Amino acid sequence: MIDFSIPADLAAERDRVRQFVIDKIVPYERDPRLTSHGPTDELRQELVELARAEKLLTVQAPVELGGRGLTHVEQAVLYEAAGWSTLGPVAMNCAAPDEGNMFLLSKVANPEQIDRYLMPVITGQQRSVFAMTEPGGAGSDPGQLSTSATFDGENFVVNGRKWLITGADGAKTWIIMARLEANPHLPEGPTLFLTEGDTPGIVIERTMNTMDRNYVGGHGVVRFENLTLPKESVLGETGQALRYAQLRLAPARLTHCMRWLGAAERAQSIAVEHARTRTAFGKPIGEHEGVSFLLADNEIALHQCRLTIWHACWLMDNGHKARHESSIAKSSVSEELFKVADRCVQVLGGIGISDETVVEMIFRDMRAFRLYDGPTEVHKWAIGRQVLRG
Ligand SMILES: Cc1cc2nc3c(=O)[nH]c(=O)nc-3n(C[C@H](O)[C@H](O)[C@H](O)COP(=O)(O)OP(=O)(O)OC[C@H]3O[C@@H](n4cnc5c(N)ncnc54)[C@H](O)[C@@H]3O)c2cc1C
Repeated sequence: MIDFSIPADLAAERDRVRQFVIDKIVPYERDPRLTSHGPTDELRQELVELARAEKLLTVQAPVELGGRGLTHVEQAVLYEAAGWSTLGPVAMNCAAPDEGNMFLLSKVANPEQIDRYLMPVITGQQRSVFAMTEPGGAGSDPGQLSTSATFDGENFVVNGRKWLITGADGAKTWIIMARLEANPHLPEGPTLFLTEGDTPGIVIERTMNTMDRNYVGGHGVVRFENLTLPKESVLGETGQALRYAQLRLAPARLTHCMRWLGAAERAQSIAVEHARTRTAFGKPIGEHEGVSFLLADNEIALHQCRLTIWHACWLMDNGHKARHESSIAKSSVSEELFKVADRCVQVLGGIGISDETVVEMIFRDMRAFRLYDGPTEVHKWAIGRQVLRG
């Protein structure tokens, strides 16, 4: 049986999250600590305390680690509400990259690693990074990984360069992907390492200037210069990094969809209000068919995106990996929501490109969504291959 109803307690919690974001978080959207490199750590900490006071911090964490152990569908409902402001997920500690990193660590880390690297992220005390992408190396094709690690039986030595590393500046928990070279002790190949951000050998060259500004700390260019890590630093097993990255990516790309759905709804609500009140040629602009069609296209897209997300979540909640469906969701939702944001800019006229409303920020922030966690073309490539395999 297909059941689209939202249980009453979940609906009530969704409404509580939405109201929390509107009342307590939206006012921070004009805070100067929301910089061109994202919210500062000081701003993040202030927002986190607001969510903590409402018992809305890191609700997605497993029950045994202090969270509510939400299902994927429950996450979809609550993250959409949180996404009403791009600062909502930051406050509730369900923003990227921490959210995906917490998921990965809760699945793969051993008990000591959980205490040292995961718990401080769950409690909101520290942030985390996932360092994979490289200039000239790993990107859409992680098989091109060029950062290397050698192992002498006691220590790993990591060398390489990464970029687009979200939150690098100031994050404490670091997950680093490097290719373990052949050695007599452990299986070689792509491997994930865990360490602290202030470990000697991690050099943050600079924070990149990008068109988005919703991620704490922005996106860094990082160099590993003879970064020496003890053998306990391996996350999971050596040679398995690409498998773990997949484990992280399927749900992580869906949570991006959930949060951006909330942001797109916010943009639509602003566009609708404008279409009701702004007049041109003798009537509210919303009464011109050209504008009402833009708003209708948005409504259709929002609805389709929500159903696509829910379906992939439902599959995962029922034990399926849902790789194909999460690829369909990521590629279609990122493209459609960006069109929604663009149409909202259009309905707003000239002020759409100004910061008089938050629509401009949503539009710019959402552009990057079509690239990270797999560019649209890479997902379509995978979907096409699956279709051809039958
Ligand atoms: C805002 C933002 C945050 C990010 N945060 C992180 C982070 O925290 N950690 C991290 O490691 N990385 C991060 N990234 C990097 C992100 O994962 C990469 O941008 C993404 O994997 C694509 O890699 P690339 O940029 O090297 O593009 P490339 O691999 O150079 O690809 C460029 C383009 O080529 C096309 N293309 C590639 N392969 C195919 C194919 N098979 N078929 C058709 N077209 C194809 C696509 O159009 C693609 O956009 C972030 C990126 C952004 C934009």
